[in-house]
Amino acid sequence: MRARERTAPAHPRRRRDDRPAPALSVVAPCYNEQEGLAAFVERMTAACAAVAGDDYELLLVNDGSRDATWAVIQAMAAGHPGVVGVNLSRNYGHQLAVTAGLALARGDRVLIIDADLQDPPELLGELSSRMDEGYDVVYARRRTRAAESRFKLATADLFYRLLGRLSDVRIPRDVGDFRLVSRKVVDRLNAMPEQDRFIRGMVAWLGGRQTEVLYDRDARFAGETHYTLGKMLKLAAAGLTGFSTVPLRLAIVFAAMGMFIALGVLGYVLWGFVTGNVARGWTSLALITVFFGIGQFACLAVLGSYIGRIFIEVKDRPLYFVDEIVSGRKDDEP
Ligand code: UDP
Ligand code: MG
Repeated sequence: MRARERTAPAHPRRRRDDRPAPALSVVAPCYNEQEGLAAFVERMTAACAAVAGDDYELLLVNDGSRDATWAVIQAMAAGHPGVVGVNLSRNYGHQLAVTAGLALARGDRVLIIDADLQDPPELLGELSSRMDEGYDVVYARRRTRAAESRFKLATADLFYRLLGRLSDVRIPRDVGDFRLVSRKVVDRLNAMPEQDRFIRGMVAWLGGRQTEVLYDRDARFAGETHYTLGKMLKLAAAGLTGFSTVPLRLAIVFAAMGMFIALGVLGYVLWGFVTGNVARGWTSLALITVFFGIGQFACLAVLGSYIGRIFIEVKDRPLYFVDEIVSGRKDDEP
């Protein structure tokens, strides 16, 4: 079966769509990055030139910045042939800015990188040479993180542990969205229409050959983090609920536990009733409480499992992707 055809997200037709696809695209989401952007473009274009000559495009996606970021991007695009500016209509958040960039990127390989120079552009060389070995995804894993608060490190750690426990997909720890992905992976990501996007989880879900490269995460070049606690919680919720229906099914656990407890309570209550050693009305009250309690948890469990299924259905992901088909008949291969 082939994955259902989907309409591409609405975006203006890229001016250079008739040109052959470049070897490399870089997608960098930018939100209020006016101070650091020039330095980023300089280091990034140098790193691109080192691996792809001039056969690359650098997409700077302005995610509704409130400062002069868009003006800076326009100036950069005017001054560098490889730079493409994309202006979103408002602030959609990091994950959607990356999504927009991925939909517009045309390269055979796409690097996803933050524009604040926390992810060193120079790592591109190493990521590319790993991909040359035949990987579909080479993600950059943080060995150290300079200048990030204890709180951020501790919450990130807790989040990845929890996610690892709850999710059926193995999502690597200490890995952000900084990674090099093949055209195949980008096309597949673009075919996943879910609204609430947790890109590192989606890439993990896609499988294929994935590997990592270690790096030291730098401090921000300028400005401060735009990932407020609220945005972090929202991302964490997208990760947890998007990749696990375990929380929904907690009611099943409660119902099962309730059954065991109820058996004990039942014995105790009936024993009291038989020996006549109880206050009047206690027996019936205890029985009513126990049975209705279990009944409610059981109903919630049923609802939870249906809602979990509805949730998975509405995500409308392709069911699977086939990597290869081999056959003895040569004309059989796609
Ligand atoms: N970003 C974005 N939209 C937002 C918030 C952030 O496009 O609403 C961009 C930001 O410009 C940066 C990247 O996403 O390039 C990562 O954001 P940030 O550095 O604030 O997050 P942190 O590195 O602190 O996790
Ligand atoms: Mg950052």
